[in-house]
Amino acid sequence: MGANKTPKSGLKSARIPGRPHCLPRAYGLAEELTRSCGDYVPFCSQSIGSGIIRVHSRDSRAALPEKTVISARNAYVRGVRPASINLYDLTRAQLGELLVGWELKPVHVPLLWNYLYLGLADSLDAMPKLPPKLRARLKVHTHFGVLPTAFETDSNDGFTRKYLLALADGEKIETVLMRFTGRVTACISSQVGCAMGCVFCATGQMGYTRHLTAGEIVAQAVHVARALKFQSHHFPPPPSNPQPPAASPPRRFHLISENDTRLRNIVLMGMGEPLHNYDAVMHAIEIMRDETGLALGAERITLSTVGVVPGILRLAKEKRPLHLAVSLHAATQAERAALVPAAKKWPLDELMAACRTYSETTGRRIFYEWTLIEGKNDSIEHARAVGRLLHGLPAQVNLIPLNPTAGYTGAPTRTDAAKNFQHILSEEFKIPSTVRQRRGIDIAAGCGQLAVADRR
Ligand code: SAH
Ligand code: SF4
Repeated sequence: MGANKTPKSGLKSARIPGRPHCLPRAYGLAEELTRSCGDYVPFCSQSIGSGIIRVHSRDSRAALPEKTVISARNAYVRGVRPASINLYDLTRAQLGELLVGWELKPVHVPLLWNYLYLGLADSLDAMPKLPPKLRARLKVHTHFGVLPTAFETDSNDGFTRKYLLALADGEKIETVLMRFTGRVTACISSQVGCAMGCVFCATGQMGYTRHLTAGEIVAQAVHVARALKFQSHHFPPPPSNPQPPAASPPRRFHLISENDTRLRNIVLMGMGEPLHNYDAVMHAIEIMRDETGLALGAERITLSTVGVVPGILRLAKEKRPLHLAVSLHAATQAERAALVPAAKKWPLDELMAACRTYSETTGRRIFYEWTLIEGKNDSIEHARAVGRLLHGLPAQVNLIPLNPTAGYTGAPTRTDAAKNFQHILSEEFKIPSTVRQRRGIDIAAGCGQLAVADRR
């Protein structure tokens, strides 16, 4: 069979169910098929998200089952050259293994790691001291999963910058940089869209597209860290009045302090449900926590969940070092299910039992988030109901006035009603609470709002 013959009608597919980050395994599968079926040329229409690979035959007579369904584990073939590796997918230890696999000395790992996470280099050109052999390997087998900015915008409040970042498959996600005095926080996404369908949430209204890989999650933190390091002089100054009228012009060029040039905190409160993408999120957290790299310690990472009970119990069992926030929004099953469809799968009593287990096992307080919607869940009685629900638990309540979205008619609670809500929690139940500033409302900095606008 001529090697130059064009692959054609022997096209077959093999499916690796729903695991986009198993793509290297898919390539492994293709090579395995090549070995067992002789004439097949692996290649691979890499269909991220569906997990489908295509195997082309050089000879249309060659037989292969019409559709081969193979589990990701079975598909993994050791020793097969994987697809290009996203460097942001690797922990420091995995980077070491990669180098050893190439028969290079792991002694180069610190240099490479420092370039990646201290120098925040985004290409091999920005790594001049790499030894030539390592550089050559990296060039062939790896890439920097840097996420280009599709759109960015500053809020008039002077504190918030929102990025719409482009993924390799054309999808877009949101990452938000928020500056508080003396600390900078990145709000990052864990999925494209979300399957949980909370009625007031722009991401929920968008529906679920796919999980992010660990590398795509880390790349968001790197994006913000890079913006702080290299472009901080472009940020507007802090306002003297924290919430100037939306019409006031953006201000320019100011830093609050030295601390503002370093990323201090991560909140997983962007697009998506992080516990629905558990493995990739935990892997990303491990990379972001590495104290020789981005060094975002346990106190600096907050994961917010809609209430995925198995995920909360797994976090407790694994004693994951992070802060947990649980989006409650209602204190009865019926009211909650009307706002958060996921409550039908994980009812309120099961959720509260899981929260109790989490706090008992980890000794940690949970933040309970409550989106305040006028006339829906913001009355004195609602405040008392949440007070009773959380009584005896180590808890803090974060009240978030609703960010209006196109797909939901509700309005945000007025400031005086929010204050009354807080007053009940503190005076009658001794539960601390905060009303979250509505940062960046003029730039649609509510979860998923910019991405929705981009799709229109
Ligand atoms: N999926 C996770 C994390 C992302 S959403 C979760 O639901 O917890 C982060 C927080 O923003 C959640 O508490 C969510 O309820 C809240 N939120 C989403 N859309 C909002 C909106 N339009 N206005 C106010 N809060 C919103
Ligand atoms: Fe998903 Fe969170 Fe939005 Fe609900 S609030 S739809 S869980 S991103």
